[in-house]
Amino acid sequence: MFYVSLWLSKLYLFLTKNKMNDKAGSLALKLDKNFYRHIKKPNIVIAVTGTNGKTTTCNFLVDLLEKSGYKVTSNKEGANFLPGIAKALMKGVTLFNKAKVDIAIIEFDELGSKKVLPLINPTYIAVTNLFSDTMKRNAHTDYVFSKINEGLPKDSILVLNADDLISSQLGQNNKKIYFGIDKLKTDTKVNHSLVQDIRVCPKCYTPLEFSYFHYHHLGKANCPKCGFTNPLPKYNLTNIDYQNKTITINKEKYLLVNDSLFNIYNELLAITILKEIGVKNINESLKTLEIVKTRYNKIKIKNIEVISQMAKGQNPIAVSRALNYAKDLSGNKEVIIILDDIYDYEALDRSEVMSWIYDSDFEALNDPSIKKVIIGGFRAYDYKVRTLLAGVAPNKVFTSRSEVDTYKYLDLKKIDKVIIIHDIYLNKKALEIISKIKGELE
Ligand SMILES: [Zn+2]
Repeated sequence: MFYVSLWLSKLYLFLTKNKMNDKAGSLALKLDKNFYRHIKKPNIVIAVTGTNGKTTTCNFLVDLLEKSGYKVTSNKEGANFLPGIAKALMKGVTLFNKAKVDIAIIEFDELGSKKVLPLINPTYIAVTNLFSDTMKRNAHTDYVFSKINEGLPKDSILVLNADDLISSQLGQNNKKIYFGIDKLKTDTKVNHSLVQDIRVCPKCYTPLEFSYFHYHHLGKANCPKCGFTNPLPKYNLTNIDYQNKTITINKEKYLLVNDSLFNIYNELLAITILKEIGVKNINESLKTLEIVKTRYNKIKIKNIEVISQMAKGQNPIAVSRALNYAKDLSGNKEVIIILDDIYDYEALDRSEVMSWIYDSDFEALNDPSIKKVIIGGFRAYDYKVRTLLAGVAPNKVFTSRSEVDTYKYLDLKKIDKVIIIHDIYLNKKALEIISKIKGELE
């Protein structure tokens, strides 16, 4: 039955011209219940999960490996659950089930660990970080932590974030490799974020003492009672040179792909994995590496820089990072926020929980360099209340029921930058706003 399933799903993939759907994978799984056991896997399987950054990290890995001459299959065009992963593996074999790729890069959902990992038995399992996420789905970091732990095959090597005291504790019996970022000039002694997912020692429950924070709970801490502390990173990023666009990892310089710290973590993780599997000339491939434009885009229109930054709605950490990123950019700015969870309220008859915006650092908007905050969409008034509570002056806050019409409130003569913070499903609206700004300026 396996070959029937392989051939029919390959034929389906061919006929549908490899479109972005996972039906070929579902078909394969339907025709052969043991498809995962039968399909030949490449020599190296790298599985990536975590609250934030898993998609970008997978994209980095696929691009960098392909540029370095490796043949790669991945589920980057599909979903991160069983059918999408089946499709990725199926694309990696010939009609006679011989591996035709060197490496599979598999993004998987944190909660899918138990179902996914034993089936693909990864060589490496990388976890970007663990933070509070969509509450309805992910409850609490302890819950997600235990869900990931349940599925870890004992031979997989874990690649973990040493600065994250939650995810770095995964896989008690697995071999582990850590990556981390050393103390930076931008670090703070106190945590300025509302959410800090770990405060007490997980061994003896004594309050942790943090010597610095990168952001949220990422940083360095130790327990004054039992000595619990961060693991030592094998790949240690010691310097970020924003001027010359380089980062230093273990005394070697690499090109900086993006200047936000959360993307620097994604780059560090990708480099860690490449070094572990012995890839040479990483800088050569980094030269042309970019973040997918739907996630981050920067263009100059006349004298104004327009930046669109995706932030997953209902994810307070992703939104906090995007808000802080806007604050930290140089020059005078106006910020457009379109974060309506359209997808969610259509599916659930507009019953989404908005409490997460009170866990997000809207306080970052209360900065003299931000001249206006313009909020668009069905939930604009909810965000307005949150922005006012953050201390932003009422005469700086504008709302529009239409996402695209937010551009009408921009004062393009007075500013250097426009930052559009948009939800994952609102990329098209962000593009429309950019074209309206173009129309105004050109
Ligand atoms: Zn302790």
